[in-house]
Amino acid sequence: MSSLSGKPTDSLMRIFRSLLLLGALLPSALLASESWKAGLARVPITPRRGLWMAGYAARRGPSQGVAQEIYAKALALEDATGQRSVLVTTDLLGFTAALAKQVAERAKARFGLPRDRLLFNSSHTHSGPVVGGMLRIAYSMTDEQAKDVETYTNELADKIVQVIGDALAALAPARLSFGQTEALFAVNRRVPTPDGYVGGVNRSGPVNRSVPILVIDGARGGLRGVVFGYACHNTTIRGDSYLFHGDYAGEAQAWLEHRYPGTVALFVAGCGADSNPHPRGTLLWAREHGTELATAVDKALTGPMTAVRGPLKSRFELLPLAFDNLPDRAELERRLKGDNPYVRLHAQEMLKILDREGRLPVEYPYPLQVWQFGSDLTFIAMAGEVVVDYDLRLKRELGVENLWVAGYSNDVFAYIPSLRVLREGGYEAEGAMIYYGQPSRFAPSVEAAIMQMIREMVRTVRRVRTARPD
Ligand SMILES: [Zn+2]
Repeated sequence: MSSLSGKPTDSLMRIFRSLLLLGALLPSALLASESWKAGLARVPITPRRGLWMAGYAARRGPSQGVAQEIYAKALALEDATGQRSVLVTTDLLGFTAALAKQVAERAKARFGLPRDRLLFNSSHTHSGPVVGGMLRIAYSMTDEQAKDVETYTNELADKIVQVIGDALAALAPARLSFGQTEALFAVNRRVPTPDGYVGGVNRSGPVNRSVPILVIDGARGGLRGVVFGYACHNTTIRGDSYLFHGDYAGEAQAWLEHRYPGTVALFVAGCGADSNPHPRGTLLWAREHGTELATAVDKALTGPMTAVRGPLKSRFELLPLAFDNLPDRAELERRLKGDNPYVRLHAQEMLKILDREGRLPVEYPYPLQVWQFGSDLTFIAMAGEVVVDYDLRLKRELGVENLWVAGYSNDVFAYIPSLRVLREGGYEAEGAMIYYGQPSRFAPSVEAAIMQMIREMVRTVRRVRTARPD
């Protein structure tokens, strides 16, 4: 009775409101589903013979086998304007500037990809091969072993060019969406002691446990791929292991690809320079942490996600970062007589530069990259081993709702300390510069310079084009 005697205007209003709601939802849903093409590919990059492993100076010989296959993976995106961009992720300690340059030049020649639309990130596994000349001071390789690394690096470049091409060839209509979850195994690793900061477990130190997720679905549904990040050293497995492995990030990717057959899972390392997985030390713990991370991503996939629309705008810049307190010849010669073999080796290398160039480099060209997905997602890729302060500060200060900050991108050549960490001192502030073969620590301006450049880059890629009267 009530439906017949009720006011017909109520039903009409309800239909009208439903249409309004549908109208509000449709444009973004349609845009999201129709504006992208995506392609995914992966290629194994596990060395097929014994090779020196990256990340730990304590290792005394090359690898002795494979515990897990490691990969280079690519996500190619084409937005509605036809612009193509490719994200490359690898189970490696990092890219050198030379490797990134070589691959980028070949990708430009072969696929027409400009540098700003190619983004390299590495998981920072310490159970992968040495790449190029990275951290050479840390490794006691023979000339022959160094030659093997060179051969491998050349083959690696070929494979990365190949995986970029494979992802571009696989471009097909897709929908993108963004979400976040968290995993709890990252812990701050800088412990204050009367003798300064040392490595350990600091439960009250800053850490970022969030897990950003970019989901790639087919135009008609069906998961095709997932990109996920975490800001934590990929160092569950220690230097007493001589088996190749992707560590927790490798385990998490394998878990997701097993759970969703035919998909590609890509891991993006965040600003985890001063975070370690906890506990650590065994392959079993790498598996545990990987499962925790993958399970968190899997649960998030069932929840609400934000549609990510185009176009994809990009910027790539080299910011000169100044070094501080460059050692002079007398200081370097004094260091040659010291007890620490790494400091001695570093001094030798610096003296060679002084002999050759007449001076040490006063700055380093620091790569920064920003990808802006419509007004829905801002992705900042920072080079080097970036401490968590940058990540937390950018999230606080940029006023960007969906922000993803990656470290270990494009060039891994040093730690990038914040002013706080620089003042506190320790391994991330300056100790690691010896192993990385950099002349000295960064100047105190490092944080302000990086923040200013990122702000400027984000502002320009987010600028909305407004019609101007003639
Ligand atoms: Zn590291």
